[in-house]
Amino acid sequence: AERPYIVGNWKMNGTRAMLSEARAIDRASQRLMKVEVALAPPFTLIHATHKEVEQIGVGAQDCHAGEEGAHTGDISAGMVLDAGAKFVILGHSERRQDHGESNDIVRQKVEAALAVGLRIILCCGESAATRDAGTAEDFVTAQLRASLPQSVASHFEASPETLTVAYEPIWAIGTGRTPTVADVSAMHRAIRATLVDLYGAEHGANVRILYGGSVKPDNATELLSADEVGGALVGGASLSAENFLGIVMAA
Ligand code: 13P
Repeated sequence: AERPYIVGNWKMNGTRAMLSEARAIDRASQRLMKVEVALAPPFTLIHATHKEVEQIGVGAQDCHAGEEGAHTGDISAGMVLDAGAKFVILGHSERRQDHGESNDIVRQKVEAALAVGLRIILCCGESAATRDAGTAEDFVTAQLRASLPQSVASHFEASPETLTVAYEPIWAIGTGRTPTVADVSAMHRAIRATLVDLYGAEHGANVRILYGGSVKPDNATELLSADEVGGALVGGASLSAENFLGIVMAA
């Protein structure tokens, strides 16, 4: 329905030398207006990337749930907004695993980010064990419900693009393994049904659902063809303008 949304998550990669990649991605994206393109560099590059680009969106990979205060090393939603971010990725499995982020914490972060006007990319996804147990759809839809605050609903009227969901099976991240198109379709349909249940037919249908996990230029067309896939959240392949633009072009 919507323009496809292709987002690069640089994770803990990139120094100022990488700004040339951001610039190259931005310049090429100016000629590909049918796709919405965005990058989430590390905190240290948000402002510089924001200054460097004209067309693409810039966002953060995380934020703290609090507004300010004694939280050494943390960064608030208001701070990333001030640095030039327009969105924030929340609930990524690497945050959930490396930093013990529960659904409760993720939900509080979503709340904090919405309160300052950031758009949200909320990540969900099952482990290999959950996939093998045959309970992936139940797990992911429950994770989604528990990670989304009530307050999301009140933002759709003013800002229909307030929420994007990213489905990232943990076992597909950085592994080169991807689910089948049938499995992606089934999961994305289940996520869509959950969003419609939560937000109603109109708003629930408008939320874009991205697929993430080993998306590359040579598998992007296939993965993006699955049901209810509105774009991709790209890790490794977003670190090179050539690879990332190959995915943008496939969208
Ligand atoms: P890869 O594309 O490197 O598998 O990472 C996916 C991801 O986690 C994006 O957020």
